[in-house]
Formats: sequence, C-alpha cells, structure tokens
Amino acid sequence: MRDYPWLKEKLDEIWIKYFPDIPRENKVLITFKGRWKNKFGHIQQLPSKNTWIAVNKLFQDERVPEYIVNLTIAHELAHYSHGFQSPLEQKYSHPHKGGVVNKELKKRGFSEELEKEKIWLKEEWLNIYHSYFKKRI
Ligand SMILES: [Zn+2]
Repeated sequence: MRDYPWLKEKLDEIWIKYFPDIPRENKVLITFKGRWKNKFGHIQQLPSKNTWIAVNKLFQDERVPEYIVNLTIAHELAHYSHGFQSPLEQKYSHPHKGGVVNKELKKRGFSEELEKEKIWLKEEWLNIYHSYFKKRI
C-alpha cells in the first residue's frame, strides 16, 4: 500500500542511491498532496525552514508505475540539490531554465526512466486521471 511510511522510505532510498553527495542540511518532509493533472510534485521551504516535498496524491494508485513516483521525488531532490527551497547554495538563476533538472537527472542515471515517462504521460496518465475526474463535455 502506498501510504505515508512507504513514501517516506522512497525518499530515503532515492536520496541514498542517487543523491549520496547531497547533504541533508535541514529536515525534509514528504507527503502525498493534491490531485493535479499537470503537476506531479512540488517542493517548498516552509517558514520553519524545513523543506516539504509534495507528491501528487493520485500516485497512490498502483496503476501509476513506481518509476514515475521515483522520478517525481528525484525531480524535487534535483531542485533541492540546486539550492532551490533548500539551505544549500543556489546554483542557477531559475529552477528550470536550460533544462537543468533533466540534465541533473540524466547525470544521476534516470535517462531511461525519463524516456519511459514521456510515453507513459502520453498514453496512460490521462486515462488514470480521468478515471477520477470526468472529462467536461
Ligand atoms: Zn521542477
């Protein structure tokens, strides 16, 4: 079951496996939140200085492949590693400009998953999304 402990463990796994050089300099929280169509995740530094990662709540559905959840978490950790919404030194002027996130993810071994994600997004995601939210006629 994709519950809170499952998600929390995923974050630790991905951090250890793919971002071992990135120090965790504050408390990083993760939860499922939001049932978004066009957004998979979100990262925000809170007034408490903790960082909060949100993963699309629809990803609790087992039809969403695990690598999509992993990629979403890795995407947000790439922002963290670049100093966005984190206490680390900011490396770029803008979080997405120049494709810095995908470059980071490719460098860290996610090339294959990024390719698979494109196809999944085109062929599967909207079917899953619309099984929860009916299309407007
Ligand atoms: Zn992003």
